[in-house]
Amino acid sequence: TSLKKDDIRTFREDFLEMHTYEQANFFKEQDKMLRRRIYGYLSPGEFAELMESMEIEETISYITEMNPYYSGAILSELPVDDAVDILNLMENEEVASFLSMMEREVASEIRQLLGYEEKTAGSIMTTEFITIYDTQTAEQVMKLLKEKAPDAETIYYLYVVDESAKLAGVLSLRDLIIAPEDALIREIMSEKVVAVSVAKDQEEVAQIFQDYDFLALPVVDFQDRLIGIITFDDILDVLEEEASEDYSMLA
Ligand code: ATP
Ligand code: MG
Repeated sequence: TSLKKDDIRTFREDFLEMHTYEQANFFKEQDKMLRRRIYGYLSPGEFAELMESMEIEETISYITEMNPYYSGAILSELPVDDAVDILNLMENEEVASFLSMMEREVASEIRQLLGYEEKTAGSIMTTEFITIYDTQTAEQVMKLLKEKAPDAETIYYLYVVDESAKLAGVLSLRDLIIAPEDALIREIMSEKVVAVSVAKDQEEVAQIFQDYDFLALPVVDFQDRLIGIITFDDILDVLEEEASEDYSMLA
């Protein structure tokens, strides 16, 4: 009744006293409106606890009806292998967007567990990048940058995607700053984008960095959708790793 009366304090007191299994059963009996209320009442960590006692298949429908930030936070709180099991039931695109909302360490662990092979672009990329659309104006993107820049790995290059999340262009921060405010991104971006496939060997990726002198490169999946970026510092790690391998072989 505290749930129906929207009495958050009493609800939390009674609800959190139950075993997580009972919490899950109670939750499952509620209609969508009341489920939404529960999402608002519980922290992602508290919700993750009760979700652990559900079947993976059951969780999917709930995950998708939540605010993505909330579900992203829940996935970060879950044991990574559970999170991976859940993500494995989702579409690639959805997975990428969840990973981009998770804590960096958690996301990178999950990504590896999701099966990107070791020593490929996918295993060294980060999902913390800024996506912009070809239909936005320079002014809109500048505003967006103010908001998003603190969490992005680099803002030096801005990768542009079309409505199907496919990589469509690139522009540098400098290109953006010198453009007229009302210019469309489509008009100022460069459409010839050098990108690497998520499965590309890290040594080949390092070679591309050396050939083109870019500070970052976009990573795409097999449908050409932007799923991550690799920055130059990741490449330094690769070079170091390869050099010490070569050295020990020599020894
Ligand atoms: P700087 O004066 O520091 O060189 P810049 O804006 O010229 O600034 P660069 O790093 O030299 O930046 O990049 C040159 C151009 O390459 C930019 O216009 C950018 O849009 C483009 N660029 C960046 N990444 C890619 C990429 N992956 N594929 C194709 N072009 C890219
Ligand atoms: Mg330049």
